Amino acid sequence: MANEYDIVVIGSGTGGYVAAIRAAQLGLQTAVVERAATLGGTCLNVGCIPTKALLEHAHSLKIAQDWNEWGLTLGNATIRLDMSQVQSRKDRIVKGLTSGVEFLFKKNKIDWIKGSGRLAGKGTVEITDGQKQTFTARKEIIVATGSQPRSVPGIEIDRKRIITSDEAIGLKEIPKSIAIMGTGAVGVEFGSIFRRFGSEVTLIEMLPRIVPLEDEAISAELERSFKKQGIKVLTGTRVTGAKAGATSVDLEAQTPDGKSIKLNAEYLLVATGRGPVTSGLGAEEAGLRLERGYIHVGSDFRTNVPGISAIGDVITFDKPGHPQLAHLSSAEGIAVAERIAWEAPGSINYDQVPACTYCDPEIGSVGLTEQEAQARGYEVKTGSFKFGILGRARIAGEVEGFVKIVFDKKYDEILGVHMIGPRSTELVAEATLALRLECTVEELIRTIHAHPTMSEAIGEAAHAAHGAPIHA
Ligand SMILES: Cc1cc2nc3c(=O)[nH]c(=O)nc-3n(C[C@H](O)[C@H](O)[C@H](O)COP(=O)(O)OP(=O)(O)OC[C@H]3O[C@@H](n4cnc5c(N)ncnc54)[C@H](O)[C@@H]3O)c2cc1C
Repeated sequence: MANEYDIVVIGSGTGGYVAAIRAAQLGLQTAVVERAATLGGTCLNVGCIPTKALLEHAHSLKIAQDWNEWGLTLGNATIRLDMSQVQSRKDRIVKGLTSGVEFLFKKNKIDWIKGSGRLAGKGTVEITDGQKQTFTARKEIIVATGSQPRSVPGIEIDRKRIITSDEAIGLKEIPKSIAIMGTGAVGVEFGSIFRRFGSEVTLIEMLPRIVPLEDEAISAELERSFKKQGIKVLTGTRVTGAKAGATSVDLEAQTPDGKSIKLNAEYLLVATGRGPVTSGLGAEEAGLRLERGYIHVGSDFRTNVPGISAIGDVITFDKPGHPQLAHLSSAEGIAVAERIAWEAPGSINYDQVPACTYCDPEIGSVGLTEQEAQARGYEVKTGSFKFGILGRARIAGEVEGFVKIVFDKKYDEILGVHMIGPRSTELVAEATLALRLECTVEELIRTIHAHPTMSEAIGEAAHAAHGAPIHA
């Protein structure tokens, strides 16, 4: 293994490993420092992939439980979920994908430096555990150290009863009951998983609505559906204390009218957000500007220290609220590698980043919500269409939800598309391309959508935006 590279990346999550592959493709000699036993970071090991594997089991269970509807005969057997099989299938998928990254490193001649990396002076990364060594980056160091679960004051995570997503992913038994604090993507996905698996689920959200970053119409539809599924939803409610016992957790919370309530559940899942990972990185000593622990970067991902860039979950810009998404960290990885190789500005349009939440019903959204578009001063118009009208949705037995297009009346330009319902996490790709190409609603109307497909809901929402839906 060499000691000198063009680029040294710290962290092999979806940001770091993609940056490394793109840099290697562009002819830069690249190494990645990773301290975990496997490559791929949060997304592959404890994030996107394992949660979606569990959600797929939840979906199969839903189909199986509706066996009567599908004309399946079971004889005298009862349907039961075998958690050990669920866990081993999930682990196989994770292993296949993390080894896949290792294969891609070999293919692209990227060295994996095993251990914890620390910034140790100009262009230098020191390995602080294992074989103590230093490595030099001739061009740039890219910090991609990601994020980790964080709690809120007064709630102590013991990882047994008061848990994070890291533990929830590996539960060997289906909890009888689980309270989930926080209703961003992680909270509602686990809510969907455990409710479908048979747990009593209570979602607790401090803000007035669940999935608070989504368009208000999406939050309302999800809450309606969750309640129908038997998920308890407490909004405007703040958890004020939690005490873990041997078999359950006692919770105290304050409701919107100031009342104190008590709850008890086998587990409390804390899903209130993730904080940056910079411990042991030597960020302060290196002189990096940190904002609430996040590494501050400019639009080209340069930090304030020449020769050090940062991407992914660990970064922040002047304006807070950098989304923590796997595909965004990858896009930033590609942008930074191309900027270094081509010496050209690499940046990203943050108004065109799709976000997917794989709860049931699933959510896909891109661009401005109606409320954001109004705040930016657009003359906002919208058009919506319900999935339930479509033949394809009825065939699939998935009739909940809608597609909503937010557009600017003046130029007919699409500003955002928000959908909740079947295949929304796939359908959002069309909307993302529409935003990327600065499409008008008229162009979406003229785009022929195949029949019978769920994508017809997008075409129909465009027709509705111009006041003339065909099937409503
Ligand atoms: C339960 C869950 C579900 C999620 N689902 C989705 C989803 O469906 N879609 C989506 O887009 N996003 C999802 N996310 C978010 C997504 O996982 C993250 O946005 C993404 O992993 C961020 O990538 P990253 O490269 O910035 O950091 P990370 O993936 O966190 O990787 C950072 C890596 O750096 C390593 N590291 C840290 N410090 C050092 C050091 N000093 N030396 C060496 N190595 C170091 C860590 O070990 C880690 O491997 C989910 C997250 C969670 C928790």
